[in-house]
Amino acid sequence: MARLCPLFSGSSGNSYYIGSRQAGLLLDVGRSARQIENMLRLCGIDPLAVKAILITHEHTDHIAGVQVFARRYGLPVYGSPGTLRAMGSTLTEIEQHPIEDTQTVAGLMVTPFATSHDSAQSLGFLVETEDQRSFALATDTGVLTEAILSHLEGADFAVVESNHDRQMLRDGPYPAYLKARILSSRGHLANEDCASALVRLAQTGCRRFLLAHLSRENNTPQRALQTSLAALEAAGLRRDVDFTLDVAPPENTSGRSILF
Ligand SMILES: [Zn+2]
Ligand SMILES: [Zn+2]
Repeated sequence: MARLCPLFSGSSGNSYYIGSRQAGLLLDVGRSARQIENMLRLCGIDPLAVKAILITHEHTDHIAGVQVFARRYGLPVYGSPGTLRAMGSTLTEIEQHPIEDTQTVAGLMVTPFATSHDSAQSLGFLVETEDQRSFALATDTGVLTEAILSHLEGADFAVVESNHDRQMLRDGPYPAYLKARILSSRGHLANEDCASALVRLAQTGCRRFLLAHLSRENNTPQRALQTSLAALEAAGLRRDVDFTLDVAPPENTSGRSILF
């Protein structure tokens, strides 16, 4: 059995714990080390259970606390060569672990895959536990490519970006250049694109979903949930019978863990 704790999600910071109560990984450290520690404890995880850090890309909402957290606990930090380069002197050479292919990290099998984002070399991750439970995360991606979908398809649980409602974004207050950036194929994933991907995933085997990295300005949790739910139900699938679907909160103040 695997334990997933979504600690933080969204542009104000992203971080997930995956593993068991005794040992696991942090995916992104997008808040201060202190905030991450507090949220781990709230979820019933001792920060000492974190054995390594995986970084999706170098944007601040994914790495804000990585330097302090990695140093405090003496942890290796895995990321693509491009991401580690873009992080510059944030990490020492000893802390940096480039990851390009499947490798074992702290007892978990980690497979990185490329996402489509306006950063140096962003990644999503497929993580498999010793008892063959698998988890995939794909956020900060303007599109879900065939390669990304193929990794998500094999997973028992998928965290997928449902960043914005296109109409809310177009009608909203953001400047034109920022709207164009978010809407581009190297920006963020729209609710509609997430929804159609979930239908395909549900039809090919992955049936547990968490919507993540929602925009506070250009989306609402209800809208993101409703868009995916409607698409899945239109495909003849029933919530909590054929699939589970939830939204990752910006902060997991309820300390909720997901077991799968
Ligand atoms: Zn980003
Ligand atoms: Zn982000």
